[in-house]
Amino acid sequence: MSDNFDVVVIGAGPAGYAAAIRCAQLGLNTACIDKSLGKDGKPAFGGTCLNWGCIPSKALLDASYKYLDAKEHFSEIGITVESVGIDVPKMIARKDKVVRGMIQGIAGLFKGNGVTGLTGTGKLLAERQVEFCPHEGDVTILQAKHVILAPGSVPVEIPPTPIDDDRIVDSTGALEFTEVPERVGVIGAGIIGLELGSVWSRLGSKVVVLEALEEFLPMADQRIARDSLKIFKGQGLDIRLGTLVTGSEVTDQEVVVSYQDKEGEQTVTFDRLIVAVGRKPYTEGLLAPDSCVDLDDNGCVNVNELCATNVSNVFAVGDAVRGPMLAHKGTEEGVMVAERIAGFKPLVNYATVPSVVYTHPEIAWVGKTEQEVKASGESYTVGQFPFSASGRAQAANDTQGIVKVIADTETDRILGVHVLGPQASEIVAQAVIAMEFDASAEDLGLTMFAHPTLSEAFHEAALSVAGHAIHMVNRKKRN
Ligand code: FAD
Ligand code: NAD
Repeated sequence: MSDNFDVVVIGAGPAGYAAAIRCAQLGLNTACIDKSLGKDGKPAFGGTCLNWGCIPSKALLDASYKYLDAKEHFSEIGITVESVGIDVPKMIARKDKVVRGMIQGIAGLFKGNGVTGLTGTGKLLAERQVEFCPHEGDVTILQAKHVILAPGSVPVEIPPTPIDDDRIVDSTGALEFTEVPERVGVIGAGIIGLELGSVWSRLGSKVVVLEALEEFLPMADQRIARDSLKIFKGQGLDIRLGTLVTGSEVTDQEVVVSYQDKEGEQTVTFDRLIVAVGRKPYTEGLLAPDSCVDLDDNGCVNVNELCATNVSNVFAVGDAVRGPMLAHKGTEEGVMVAERIAGFKPLVNYATVPSVVYTHPEIAWVGKTEQEVKASGESYTVGQFPFSASGRAQAANDTQGIVKVIADTETDRILGVHVLGPQASEIVAQAVIAMEFDASAEDLGLTMFAHPTLSEAFHEAALSVAGHAIHMVNRKKRN
């Protein structure tokens, strides 16, 4: 292996591997270093997303929903099943198989595109030199014309509930329970808390979620947050807002958590406790002092809107830089940086980063919430359509939720789209495309949608901005 590269990428999560693949596609001699080892102890490209994040959590979310559907909803549609059981080790093994397949997929993509994949630790030194310490063998120094830092993030820990990887786990441990715990505690009613809380609740655990804030899902549209809280409580998630966790005591069998709420000091006992209170950038051991790369006050690598650091030809992308910690946001940044290194001039449109919570119903949105639009003083009009009025949702026996379109009253341009409902993650993609092309609500209203689809609810919500929805009586009427 030559030690000279056009580009060295540190980190092979969705931000780093996408950057490396695009660099190689553009003819740049590229190496990508990653130190992760999978559950089987083998090198594992793919970062948090493939190993402990998006993919394994969705494997368990999908499996647990199928179980719940069979157990609770099949009889409603005339399907009788004698008994529905769960084999947790098999469920986890299938999840692991999916993960291993995806990891191999990245290795294959590296090979196919000509990326030099290196397994071990990378550290940025001065003058774009990278120290590569392989899992086996000697340290080498790589010289790069450009370096892309993509080291990702790790879970935040809090002093009252130290992770012991047994009774108290983080999101990684919560993907590995070998049986369904009777009582599961979750600290944090954020995205991970809701997704992994849902998995174990569907499989039969009694789940209590302790959330410090008084407000539920403050980053979501308030109407959607309010409706979803009601639905999740109806599903049996015991979400306790305004609780401050103060301590925990672990015994052989259980963990007793103490917290404070309006009523005073409380305790609650669980078989397992999942701590899901956010993630922080992971820059430990990444930067030698003479690399001179600046971090910001949050510990993120400091970058501008083009993901350039303060050091010439050194870039950073993904969870380790400002902005939402989402796989697709990192991927877009990685691709943008690769193309800029190759001389093109793309930008990432941070105004159209979609967010999804993969509960059931799903929550998905893009653009501004109604409370943000209101606070900004813009004049706006809201169109809404409930899934209960959708023929496809009725046919599928899946009618909870709404689509909400917020448009600028003057220009009719779409400012935000918020979906609570079945396949919201797929519907929001259409909203992203509409916003990327600067569509108006009227443009969407004039667009033909196949019938019967769940997407028609988005069409109808756009029509209802002007009071023209067909399958619902419009509150406001315009000609
Ligand atoms: P990472 O994926 O964290 O990858 C960074 C890689 O760099 C790691 O492999 C790390 O070991 C390696 N590395 C770090 N430092 C070094 C070094 N010095 N040398 C060598 N290697 C190094 N996001 C979504 O968009 N959708 C979802 O559904 C979703 N679900 C999630 C579920 C869970 C349970 C979790 C925890 C996260 C989820 N996320 C989801 C978030 C998503 O996983 C992250 O946003 C994404 O993985 C970040 O990508 P990244 O490339 O920036 O970093
Ligand atoms: P989060 O920021 O979404 O939620 C953390 C929650 O914990 C917040 O509601 C916060 O108020 C609460 N909290 C913080 N400290 C607390 C304390 N001491 N006691 C009680 N509650 C406390 O973080 P997360 O759920 O850990 O997820 C981390 C990140 O991973 C997310 O922000 C997201 O970017 C990413 N992620 C995305 C997806 C997805 O896209 N579907 C799924 C999982 C994770």
